[in-house]
Amino acid sequence: MNASAAQRTPIIAGNWKMNLDHLQAIALVQKLSWGLKDVRHDYGQVEVAVFPPFTDLRSVQTLLAADKLSIVLGAQDVSPHEAGAYTGDVSAQMLAKLEAKYVIVGHSERRHGHGESDETVGLKALAAHRAGLVPMICVGETAEDLDEHGAAAIPLAQLAAAIAPLPADAEIVVAYEPVWAIGSGQAATPEQAQDVARTLRDSLRDLRGDSVADATRILYGGSVSSQNIAGFMRQADVDGALVGGASLKSDEFSRIIQFPKHVTGS
Ligand code: PEP
Repeated sequence: MNASAAQRTPIIAGNWKMNLDHLQAIALVQKLSWGLKDVRHDYGQVEVAVFPPFTDLRSVQTLLAADKLSIVLGAQDVSPHEAGAYTGDVSAQMLAKLEAKYVIVGHSERRHGHGESDETVGLKALAAHRAGLVPMICVGETAEDLDEHGAAAIPLAQLAAAIAPLPADAEIVVAYEPVWAIGSGQAATPEQAQDVARTLRDSLRDLRGDSVADATRILYGGSVSSQNIAGFMRQADVDGALVGGASLKSDEFSRIIQFPKHVTGS
């Protein structure tokens, strides 16, 4: 780990997607927090965030507050609009009221399944920022993009578009998620993840300067498990993971969170 990487607190983030009702959500967070308490997890060393469906957020928030848990709450999506006639949308203000810290924008399942453009992703990131949330900006290439343009071109263009509307010093988290690796069981190699993460950081350096580039956490996502997390976390520019399927099992997610034990061997 270089000096800059050491200054960035890693995040392990669980994107539950459209899984678990609010009762199941409470059960999972309780089990996860008990497991992490048993192993005396240091939340200052590795930040833990969960991204439940909208209908679970209030229940999870209430549990986190009542039990004074250090797990952080995030949402999976946000409206680009502040308020008004947008049936089905949820505003960033509403999420902020629920004490969410993060919101995912630009997940590939929204880009591809819901036709979200780079411009929409940027407007969502801006709405999040204005409400005091940190946008977790997902970028990543499809298998076809990889063949045609290599790994970094699409993620770089997506990142530039997403941050364009934001003020220069806005806090963001970037999640590099190759689309071909999501839910496929075929993760990128740690070296592939590092190559793209380094290129994304270089681009942030050009666009936003050294302090933003050095402070921004860049996560890897795509078929992360307790078996492969250590390899990713050994990379200088990878500051955590966005975990889908494996975040639905508290024991497996807890093992991923405990990656420093695998990385240092302690
Ligand atoms: C995701 O949906 O962001 C993701 C990375 O999923 P999985 O870990 O299941 O590949």
